[in-house]
Amino acid sequence: QEQKDLIFNSIRDIKDFPKEGIIFKDITTLLNNKEAFKTLMDHFEERYKSYNLDYIAGIDSRGFIFGAALADRLGIGFVPVRKKGKLPGTTVCEKYELEYGFDEVEIHLDAFPIKDARVLLIDDLIATGGTATAAAKLIKHVNAQLVEVCFLLNLKFLSGDKKVAEHAPVYSVLEI
Ligand code: 5GP
Repeated sequence: QEQKDLIFNSIRDIKDFPKEGIIFKDITTLLNNKEAFKTLMDHFEERYKSYNLDYIAGIDSRGFIFGAALADRLGIGFVPVRKKGKLPGTTVCEKYELEYGFDEVEIHLDAFPIKDARVLLIDDLIATGGTATAAAKLIKHVNAQLVEVCFLLNLKFLSGDKKVAEHAPVYSVLEI
């Protein structure tokens, strides 16, 4: 609990970002705090070292930071799930609904060269669950096994975790 308090207290609230009325959870103050960042990465490593994972897939863009750091700690590969138009190779694409309109995420078709690869999907925060659900579908479309979906922060009152849980177990370090 002491560790979770240290991590939680390193995240700051920014009012009215990106729009008026939204309180944005800013994790840059966790990343530049060496105790908090290391404590979080120790926690992830401890949990996932026994999962026999082949890859970490991280969601654009803060999922890249935690995902790549964790992949390196576990000695496994990292795969980016990106917003549309950023990946250079052949991709598969998944559309999802936003408050106003749609967005799309993509993954390389050949992202997981190991057959039936065991994959952990990671992002910093889950709100409605739209992004993580689309990313989870992509991982399955390219024939990998989605072992778990993991977040630093779960905005539980939005119930996004229930949507993602239809695809794989969900774990979050902190809940609000
Ligand atoms: P969802 O698709 O679950 O509604 O939104 C989650 C996505 O939006 C994640 O990729 C997450 O990084 C980003 N996001 C939404 N709200 C916040 C926030 O308050 N803080 C941070 N750090 N990311 C957010």
